[in-house]
Amino acid sequence: MSKENLLELTELGSPILRQKAKPVANIFDDEVQRLIDKMLVTVKHERGVGLAAPQVGESLRLFIISPEGKQRYPHCHVDETLVVINPQIKPLTNKTDSDWEGCLSIPGIRGKVPRVTGIEVSYLNRLGEHKIEQYFDFVARIFLHENDHLDGIVFLDRMSDPRKIITDKEYIKLFDDDE
Ligand SMILES: [Zn+2]
Repeated sequence: MSKENLLELTELGSPILRQKAKPVANIFDDEVQRLIDKMLVTVKHERGVGLAAPQVGESLRLFIISPEGKQRYPHCHVDETLVVINPQIKPLTNKTDSDWEGCLSIPGIRGKVPRVTGIEVSYLNRLGEHKIEQYFDFVARIFLHENDHLDGIVFLDRMSDPRKIITDKEYIKLFDDDE
């Protein structure tokens, strides 16, 4: 993996993380396809489970869902890498669940965030194919987290109890105790 394909991450405080992103107008544009390639390299390098375009400085409605983040999220099970363009998400249930989230743009901390447990996602992939899929539990959570980035929302905004913010160090201990 060559270093020139790694994109710099924007972090909390960067205005782009608070902007509503614009739809991708032409998926087949060379710049868009190059951006996708670089985001794929970057999310793998950072061991994220997802990466949205505003997190690499592009205010576009595009994100990656990646199975590479298992070390950051031991209970995550994403089977394949997905490139999600101009998504529309609707909840399949009113049922919510709270679980730990982190964000590559908010390093060092985790928070317990309530989200609906089932969603239907309609989106275009990088080939311009229209996909409609249903996702549940932790994978639905990743989609909702990444989709929030396209609307200028971060996980901290979704928390109902700010006392449920912990450090990465304490988060790792939660899983050590399980074993
Ligand atoms: Zn994030």
